[in-house]
Amino acid sequence: MRLLLVEDDSMIGDSVRQGLRQDGFTVDWVRDGLGAELALHNEVYDLLVLDLGLPKKDGLDVLKTLRHRGNRIPVLILTARDTVADRVKGLDAGADDYLVKPFDLDELAARIRALLRRQSGRAEPAIQFGDLRLNPATHEVTFQGKPLSLSAREFSLLEVFLDRPGMVLSREQLEEKLYGWGEEVESNTVEVYIHALRRKLGQEFIKNVRGVGYMVPKRS
Ligand code: CA
Repeated sequence: MRLLLVEDDSMIGDSVRQGLRQDGFTVDWVRDGLGAELALHNEVYDLLVLDLGLPKKDGLDVLKTLRHRGNRIPVLILTARDTVADRVKGLDAGADDYLVKPFDLDELAARIRALLRRQSGRAEPAIQFGDLRLNPATHEVTFQGKPLSLSAREFSLLEVFLDRPGMVLSREQLEEKLYGWGEEVESNTVEVYIHALRRKLGQEFIKNVRGVGYMVPKRS
């Protein structure tokens, strides 16, 4: 899952990005409100973590503009503005959650997972797909009742497919989900991970759609 982090404080931004990456998220980080708008215009994100006190454009204005345009991306406000009035204002402007600094990284990650779960229409924390079961919180996977070992990237890629069964995803779209800005993408890495997943889950698990991309078919 690819997240946009908007935070002007270098230390907080750096530790949030690192922590969320360790939790398996792909994270792009911008430091002001206009940078946030540009990134949201240019890339597709699964969730936005938004500070409010930002240079160039206040986070609340970024949020209002976003919602005014009809953008439904889940938004978690992460801010030092801690009064009840601030929280009400943030949620009423279209945020889905509100976390006050100082905060705990584990709680931030859990809130992000909760928002993503709701966005994909799941009530249960684990993703069940046929006889495959993924836990986004612990990264545990079982297949046909047995534990399955996946690398962090394999897990992320599988999560992207299972979030959109039946949808054809191009190699470029998959790369965008797996790699943030500044991360080196080697030319055939997506194919390598798909090959590894097929070896573990069966050749037919991920279909090639010639000239377009890859798909995990829906289960009835
Ligand atoms: Ca700030």
